[in-house]
Amino acid sequence: MSDVIRLLPDSVANQIAAGEVIQRPSSAAKELLENAIDAGADSIQLIIKDAGKTLIQVTDNGTGMSDTDARLCFERHATSKIEQASDLFSIRTMGFRGEALASMAAIARVEIRTKTADQEIGTGVVVEGAKLLTQEPCQCKKGTSVAVKNLFYNTPARRNFLKSDNVERRHILQEFYRVAIARPDIAFDLYCNGQLTHKLGKGKLVQRIANLLGNKYKQQLVHVEENTQIVNIMGYIGKPEFAKKTRGEQYLFVNQRYIRSPYLNHAIENGFDSLIPEDTYVSFFLFLETDPESIDVNVHPTKTEIKFQDEKYIYQILKTAVKHALGSYTRTPGFVFDREQAFDGPSPAGDKPVKPPSIKVNPGFNPFEAGYGRQASQQRDLEDRPDLQQWDQLFPSDQDVSRIQQEKGNRQYLISTDWDEENKEDNGQKKFFQLHNRYILVPVKSGLMVIDQQRAHERVLYDKFKRNRENNSGVSQQLLFPENITLTENNAEILKEILVDIKTLGFGIHMMGKTTFVIDAVPAVISEEHGLQDIIEGIVDHVQINRAELKQDLQTNVLRSMAKRLAIRHGKALSEEEMAAIVHKLFASELPQYTPSGKPVLQIITNEELNDRFK
Ligand code: ADP
Ligand code: MG
Repeated sequence: MSDVIRLLPDSVANQIAAGEVIQRPSSAAKELLENAIDAGADSIQLIIKDAGKTLIQVTDNGTGMSDTDARLCFERHATSKIEQASDLFSIRTMGFRGEALASMAAIARVEIRTKTADQEIGTGVVVEGAKLLTQEPCQCKKGTSVAVKNLFYNTPARRNFLKSDNVERRHILQEFYRVAIARPDIAFDLYCNGQLTHKLGKGKLVQRIANLLGNKYKQQLVHVEENTQIVNIMGYIGKPEFAKKTRGEQYLFVNQRYIRSPYLNHAIENGFDSLIPEDTYVSFFLFLETDPESIDVNVHPTKTEIKFQDEKYIYQILKTAVKHALGSYTRTPGFVFDREQAFDGPSPAGDKPVKPPSIKVNPGFNPFEAGYGRQASQQRDLEDRPDLQQWDQLFPSDQDVSRIQQEKGNRQYLISTDWDEENKEDNGQKKFFQLHNRYILVPVKSGLMVIDQQRAHERVLYDKFKRNRENNSGVSQQLLFPENITLTENNAEILKEILVDIKTLGFGIHMMGKTTFVIDAVPAVISEEHGLQDIIEGIVDHVQINRAELKQDLQTNVLRSMAKRLAIRHGKALSEEEMAAIVHKLFASELPQYTPSGKPVLQIITNEELNDRFK
């Protein structure tokens, strides 16, 4: 057979790269805006026509480009922002891959006009389908204007893939908002089809938010500020009472770059704790400043996903920052943070001395208990980083597990014997009532027992999964039609790590590509109403969250995450049989009083308490 391997011509390579970087008009808008910011502009105009399908143009008053640069910038991997591989670890600019202009030029007509401060006359360059058409001197102001016309004109498949103008315009607005909120120190104008729709002057962050989202927003915001050695956090969160039913305005920036991170979003939501009703979303505009060396922005072609070196710590700090901010705003008596009294201790900010940790003695401590070795080894890692060690004391990972387990052990004994007695008395005819599709009410001898249905079920499922794993008896049902799921790279990595554990729980799951998995069997507890993609993503999310919050082994983490994800939710109406089943199974558990993560499952309102109220 003759040789068959060929090197792709640049034009083809660029088209392929373009598919990654430029997915739709909004990606082009984003890249052009970022270039203008990198050029040091303090005034930027974005002009779009037909939702960017005909024209996306960005004009800035930044540094401009020389004649040569104006041509060179279209080459693939042509960038002025990094020189060597090591620069990748100290990126302060928005761009650095040198792909954006080359990509756009491969799939559109791109016209640049640019002039530097010391040039008399500017340069105009036109490139189409990766071919240089013209380059000539032109009259223009200092700065750069880049027009991208007829995007995807030579890739009909992509063009046909575009959504309606309304949808594409919304995507562009979204990018515009992200950049505009990130940089209130830059003035922005946005023109859509010839009309000036947004005019944003330079100013403070609150002003920018108010300009974009309406003046009433100012009253809804709480200021957040937390300075630590690892990260500085600044910005605003929405007051809990303004939480919305839809994922509203959630903006997280790292070194002024908008990023997507379900994990850190969770930290923020977690900081709100019980202050927001389930299924509502808070708004936030938070800026993290961290050493560029401690993050990797190069993990995703569009640079919206990044990797942190100290993700677990950042999670804790972010959560605490939100709590602090809410604490100083909510001066309601009786508002207490559970478990995290340590956060009221010395503020880690600035040069204030940090109090030496007081010694806690745990009388029930048993070095042979499972998990001890793991904690010890994690401790050792931390000792290499004195700053982090201090962190651990100020922002303790959730709880001292063995202490809580001990407490639970004592109390649960009383309760489970009670339950047997209770049942004897009622001859198995116990009554169950549901309140607000959330609590199960059960009259008991000592008063009224109130059980959180979701937490109870979580406990029941966890015990069951654990038993199954121990006896290797996970019941699995074969799917008639295997299903494919595709995850983000980050999530795919985690799923690969827990694949073995997930399989022992009854999932038949195999890798099919870098981020795609095929599922051909599921544990018997999963019914059709659960979407598989959703379940796996949920489990992976929880695994990642638990990992930061608790020092526990992976297997326990996976069990917990499954239980959490599959438990019935608040809001689900239950029949009396269903309630009975959950409650009976709950009391068959060794630890009915707490969820696997230590949250209370039930409360008893005693007869005395009730009588008191009627005095
Ligand atoms: P990157 O931003 O990753 O470097 P781009 O393809 O977006 O790659 O841009 C290539 C180069 O062109 C940039 O590094 C920069 O030197 C130059 N450039 C692009 N846009 C502008 C602009 N608006 N003003 C000045 N220089 C620009
Ligand atoms: Mg760029």
